[in-house]
Amino acid sequence: MAQLHFRYAAMNSGKSTMVLQYRHTYAACGRNGLLMTRLDRAGEGIVSSRIGISADAIEFGAATDLGHVVLAHPGARVDHVILDEAQFLSADQVDQLAWLVDDHDIDVFTFGLLSDFRGEQFPGSARLVVLADVVEALQVYPMCWCGQPARMNARVTGGVMVRDGDTVVVGNTDTAGDSDTDAEVSYVVLCRRHHRAGRPYAPAPVVTLVA
Ligand SMILES: [Zn+2]
Repeated sequence: MAQLHFRYAAMNSGKSTMVLQYRHTYAACGRNGLLMTRLDRAGEGIVSSRIGISADAIEFGAATDLGHVVLAHPGARVDHVILDEAQFLSADQVDQLAWLVDDHDIDVFTFGLLSDFRGEQFPGSARLVVLADVVEALQVYPMCWCGQPARMNARVTGGVMVRDGDTVVVGNTDTAGDSDTDAEVSYVVLCRRHHRAGRPYAPAPVVTLVA
């Protein structure tokens, strides 16, 4: 019996590395899967990991009919789908994945972020939490600058944490801790306390002058 899986984590948690590990493991078992993603940091049609591995993938868009992509895929029957950046799915696309599981016996493994930079659930992630047979928090937490586990994603523009704006703005996640990135959008991961406080970076060290 096929299942719909959703595994979520904050950014910088090694999520895409796990996606690629799933890809490798299932392929090694002789299973025929499709790897899908959207807006990977390395560009269109690729799943890349910060530790330097990557694989070709099918890029899905906001209007992609996932059922059609999977069933119409040429070659041998697709028996599973591995999908990264699942937070970019629409609720309808999550329903299409559930249909592939239930009516076509295709296992679907999705990986993504649970919440956006405001701390609110992405619509696709919210739908996955409702529909998935397996919902799991990846037990790998990146650290906030204070040393606490970081479960929240923050958007930073010009060194300042912002709480308003479009849900999806692709930015740099490799400059975490670098506060002089001009007006460029970047993302950092924070603990809840510092996300609430709007403190994306460690305070500058206090210099005490001794007379
Ligand atoms: Zn913190």
